[in-house]
Amino acid sequence: MLSIQDLQQKLKSNETSSKKLIEESLAQIEKTKSLNAFISILPERALQQAEVSDQRRAEGKTRGPLDGIPVAIKDNLCLENTRTTAGSRMLEKFNAPYTATAVELLENAGAIIVGKTNMDEFAMGSSSESSFFGPVKNPIDESRVPGGSSGGSAVAVASGCVPVALGSDTGGSIRQPAACTGVVGMKPTYGRVSRYGLIAYASSLDQIGPFGTNVKDCATILSAICGQDPHDNTTSERPCEDFTQKLDEGVQGKVIGIPKEYFEEGLEASCKAIIEKTLSQLEKEGAILKEISLPHISYAVSSYYIIATAEASSNLSRFDGVRYTYRSPEARQLFDLYAKSRSEGFGKEVQRRILLGSYVLNSGFYDAYYLQAQKVRRLITEDFNKAFKSCDVIASPTMPGAPLLCGTSSSDPMAMYLSDIYTVSLNLSGLPGITLPCGLESGLPVGLQWIGKPFQETELLSMAAATEQIIK
Ligand code: GLN
Repeated sequence: MLSIQDLQQKLKSNETSSKKLIEESLAQIEKTKSLNAFISILPERALQQAEVSDQRRAEGKTRGPLDGIPVAIKDNLCLENTRTTAGSRMLEKFNAPYTATAVELLENAGAIIVGKTNMDEFAMGSSSESSFFGPVKNPIDESRVPGGSSGGSAVAVASGCVPVALGSDTGGSIRQPAACTGVVGMKPTYGRVSRYGLIAYASSLDQIGPFGTNVKDCATILSAICGQDPHDNTTSERPCEDFTQKLDEGVQGKVIGIPKEYFEEGLEASCKAIIEKTLSQLEKEGAILKEISLPHISYAVSSYYIIATAEASSNLSRFDGVRYTYRSPEARQLFDLYAKSRSEGFGKEVQRRILLGSYVLNSGFYDAYYLQAQKVRRLITEDFNKAFKSCDVIASPTMPGAPLLCGTSSSDPMAMYLSDIYTVSLNLSGLPGITLPCGLESGLPVGLQWIGKPFQETELLSMAAATEQIIK
């Protein structure tokens, strides 16, 4: 798939038109239908907008790098008058009454949404198998999952349907599927991108971010979607920068922190070797490698699953069968209506999480679980703060090994939860992270994750771009 920059060049020289790009994208979606990356496709809307974009270009009023470019968005992002399901039967027939801020900003920049992508139900999972609309397939190896929960967005990019896509990341849901499918995926700092119009999973952890085939395209998308939003009080007032500006700064003198806990047990030897090789290449380019320690990191997964499920149990209480959601036809009384609609409307994994979350918030267990997890969250954040005093960025694997075999998420949910080991700590501490493919192991991509200081996406992207150059 061509980069945004290459596509713009073709548009500029009239070698192609936005209409053609959209037609090609729709054709590729049709061709790769069996991957099940999309829940909804929006041909009429997209083609109509492409004509408007072509018109703008003809008049010399092109809006910028995204004008006329096809994009896909995860189906937990609201788009006005369009079905928005979050991969759930609960919202199978829900049409969003408004558009998410991040999506609106993309559209204002001229980007054209061709479809809404498949995902783990309510973004709960790391395999994209729990969708009511069926599992997403990994185009690299169909016996392996594409990662999750934004598997549809990752696969849409990896299979050449779109150059870029949006996903959401609560504990790794952008970075993991990007790593499993060999593309670039980024979670910005918490507060960088508005969550308005994103169907909430765990509000203190959720963040929207881009997928692309290269680092610059992700930077371009981030530059379009970030910024303060009156609809989301957790957005930062920091001005939105042009994140594509410093991508060729190189690594000379940059101190890379290598957490010893991340490279000890738990990481498959072959992945470790590929990542270490990339790091030593960066060292040859002038980077300084420095061992650091994140002493509380081994508690990240357990505290994440307490906090995420607690918040989810509260966020998902609105899906009650009364208003805009699935309603059980069997219900006769009010309690029945709630119980039956929720039992039939939510899938197994979501029900498991609601139960877990309600349990840890229960007054008798609150101190032992939820409060304790919040304390651990603080300790992990302090570990990162301390580590960043002696380094500029932190290197980490994205996944402990190859993408899971299909079916593991239901036969062994613990194995799936454990695959979040390198990603959840960034959500707990709000830090930005980006993953990019740095090699292949038995034909499967291995992701390297860069972790940045809060709001230092520019430095993070610059490191990722330098890595991309080295492994090309
Ligand atoms: N795998 C994690 C979970 O299941 C993260 C999901 C996400 O980031 N949305 O909660």
